[in-house]
Amino acid sequence: MNEFELIAALTKKIPRRGKELLKGVGDDCAVISGSNGRLWLITSDALLEGIHFKLKWTDLRTLGRKALSVNLSDIAAMGGQARFYLVSIGLPRSKAFDTAREIYEGMNEVSNRFGVTLIGGDTVASNGGLVLSITAIGEVTKGRCLFRDGAKPGDPIYVSGRLGCSALGLECLKADVKGPGVDEFISRHLDPEPRIKEGLLLSRSGFVTSMIDISDGLMADLDHIAGESGVGYRLDSARIEFTKQFANIAKRVGADPRMLTLTGGEDYELLFTVDRNKTTQFEKWLKRASLHCKMKKIGVIVADESARKIMDENGAEIKTVLKGFDHFSCFHSLSFS
Ligand code: ADP
Ligand code: MG
Repeated sequence: MNEFELIAALTKKIPRRGKELLKGVGDDCAVISGSNGRLWLITSDALLEGIHFKLKWTDLRTLGRKALSVNLSDIAAMGGQARFYLVSIGLPRSKAFDTAREIYEGMNEVSNRFGVTLIGGDTVASNGGLVLSITAIGEVTKGRCLFRDGAKPGDPIYVSGRLGCSALGLECLKADVKGPGVDEFISRHLDPEPRIKEGLLLSRSGFVTSMIDISDGLMADLDHIAGESGVGYRLDSARIEFTKQFANIAKRVGADPRMLTLTGGEDYELLFTVDRNKTTQFEKWLKRASLHCKMKKIGVIVADESARKIMDENGAEIKTVLKGFDHFSCFHSLSFS
């Protein structure tokens, strides 16, 4: 049983109460209808010492920034504006105050940048390392919310920014690789940028049919869009760009650069599909929109749900691709049914 089968097993018998609930488990945020044609977006993500971070690799201020940024990324993935957040923090007893203060300084930097307000949380002691769990709340205009389940056959698949950078940064930290160019990738891993502005522009453009943020890796997250939309895909891996520097550093840590772009997690880029009937208009819109990063077409949605193909630069299918990060992949023998 993997992480997603576990979540599905735990949540399949939950009754759906309240007509305001438009989306519960299964997307980047839960969606609840509010007043005046607005929808509330709610999401929660935790960072655990030893699992998501090591204190020898990150300072606490940067950790605070990342904890909030990864939550805001899920609001970006729905095309929303981030508004509020709550923080639950589990602190080791020694230096509890200083630890928390530095983490809060980092969170404050991100909250000031994106105009979000801290509205509550919980503080507990932890015997098992530092724990940071954040719930973020955003909003979006009704009709502009972007879900994972809207992709249709023929829709082109796009991705923002560059992929694999965070995973490469993590490999450099693990292998203690330093030198020119390495810091950029380490910083992508320790201090990711939530694509709030891009998510908002994409949702307002009216061209996008589905969207997700890439936290588990391109292939794993594309599978979420395909699974929720009941479609397949054909991905042209050669269209995913990476720099020479990226390839050189990947080789130094013994990683395949192409595989890093396909499976590396925690880039927090946006993966989305565009209405197949509006692709020309979308490409024109892209040229005019003032975005911080490139948006690149990397494939197409197909009707057959079982057809999930990744092609190489010669048009041949790549058969073996590890599908990204899964917290419970080591527990295959466990049965939760
Ligand atoms: P993301 O990577 O976008 O944060 P996840 O893969 O963590 O999303 O979660 C997928 C979906 O499952 C989300 O809708 C999330 O709210 C839900 N989910 C995750 N863990 C639990 C849980 N323990 N109980 C209920 N719902 C959960
Ligand atoms: Mg997400």
